[in-house]
Amino acid sequence: MSTSSASADKPAAPIAASSGVEAQGKQHCVRCHANFSTDSNASGNCVVPHVFDASQAFDFGDGQRYFPSHCCGDDEIVVQDTPSSSSRSTEMLQAEEGKGTKTGEDVSDAKAREEGEALFKIANLGPCFRGRHTTVEDDIEMQYNGWNILRCVTDEEGRCMRVHLAQSDKEPVFSTGVIYTTGDAEDREWADEDAEKEKGSEVLVKAA
Ligand SMILES: [Zn+2]
Ligand SMILES: [Zn+2]
Ligand SMILES: [Zn+2]
Repeated sequence: MSTSSASADKPAAPIAASSGVEAQGKQHCVRCHANFSTDSNASGNCVVPHVFDASQAFDFGDGQRYFPSHCCGDDEIVVQDTPSSSSRSTEMLQAEEGKGTKTGEDVSDAKAREEGEALFKIANLGPCFRGRHTTVEDDIEMQYNGWNILRCVTDEEGRCMRVHLAQSDKEPVFSTGVIYTTGDAEDREWADEDAEKEKGSEVLVKAA
C-alpha cells in the first residue's frame, strides 16, 4: 500500500554470456590479445606497451643508446646504458669527481654491465595504450598500426595466435621479439598516412 522498501526480492541474474563463443565467460581482447572475464573488465586492465626499433639506435657517444619507438616514433624513446663504453665512462666519472664518495652506486651499476646486463631506463616509461579490453574490432579499427596494436590472427579452431605483449621492469619490448604476419605491413602504411595527415594539421578524412 505504501511505498515499500522491500523491493530487493528480485534474484540477481547471472550475467549471461553474450554469445556462445566463449562458454566460460572468457573473452578475448582484440587489442592486447589477453583473455579476460566480461565481469572484471575494469578500465586500465588493457595495456599495450610501446614497441621499440632495435635497428634505429641513436648513439651520441655519451655511453647511452637511444631507441625510438615504432608505434610513436621519436615521441617515445627508451634509453640504454651501453655495456661497452660504460665501464670506461665509470672510470672517467670517478676521475672527474675525484672524491670517491658516490662510487658505491656507480660500481654496482658497472658490475651489472660487466655481467652483460643491459640497463634500460624504463622506470618512467608508460604504456602506449591503457584502457578497457574490447571484443569489438570495429571500435579500434583506427588503432591498428601493425607494430604493437595488431589484429587477431586465428588458427583453424578460431583461437588467436597473437602473443600478448607485456613490458617487463627490466626490458622494453622490441619489434624483433614480436611475431608479425600478413596484413601488418598494410596497417603500418595506413597508420603512417594517418600520422602524416595529423602532422599536416589537415582535417582528418576517413578513407572510404
Ligand atoms: Zn607507442
Ligand atoms: Zn585488452
Ligand atoms: Zn587476438
